[in-house]
Amino acid sequence: MPRVVVKAIFGNIRFQCQRCGSCCHHKRPLEFDDLIPAEQIEDFWRSSNLIYLTEKDVHAISNRTGMRPPDFVDTLYDYSECYVKIEDEGRRVILDLPVLKSKEDTTCVFYQEGCSIYSVRPIACRLFPFRVEEETLDNGDILLNISYNPTCPGIGKGKMVDRKKLEGLVAEQFLLRTEDISPHIQKLNSSGEIASGARIYRTLPGRGRKRSSSI
Ligand code: SF4
Ligand code: SF4
Repeated sequence: MPRVVVKAIFGNIRFQCQRCGSCCHHKRPLEFDDLIPAEQIEDFWRSSNLIYLTEKDVHAISNRTGMRPPDFVDTLYDYSECYVKIEDEGRRVILDLPVLKSKEDTTCVFYQEGCSIYSVRPIACRLFPFRVEEETLDNGDILLNISYNPTCPGIGKGKMVDRKKLEGLVAEQFLLRTEDISPHIQKLNSSGEIASGARIYRTLPGRGRKRSSSI
């Protein structure tokens, strides 16, 4: 079994959210373009953001708001509650991770002069301004390196960051995401849709070997 190592790669820093709302205006980076079907790119850039969701997040938000998941969840393709796409005759397995939809002005659909779902906000929102770079080593071990976004005005203010607590939250997010995709991978594997030696692309799919792992 591969090991998963979570590590905050920064020294002691302070953080206190200033509630400026800028982290609620995220867009996907250009790196995703190579995986988006050409006919969907325009729509994708207009309506997607980078707030990853676990199934637990989706259910909590749906229960709290009464909204159906397709009304607030987006993925690289169409949201169909299956987070895995197979390409290249089974050799390329893309984790079609769900994210929150955005309004026309790029703001999260739940932003209304502040977060309107604060008590059930996704784990990714609870993590910000900390971010996770996922890397799969040649021996299969997975590194989850935690850094932070220095443009957040809350950095350097308030209390010292509790690194253990932060690492625990990152590990929880990774575990939940793994639990979300495992049944889909197993099903596709048993039906022979995934070729032997196929690579799984995670987080920033299609951007080179070190961000992927074999199955
Ligand atoms: S986490 Fe940072 S960017 Fe987001 S609302 Fe708080 S201060 Fe602003
Ligand atoms: S869910 Fe709330 S905290 Fe997260 S991006 Fe949307 S408005 Fe911001």
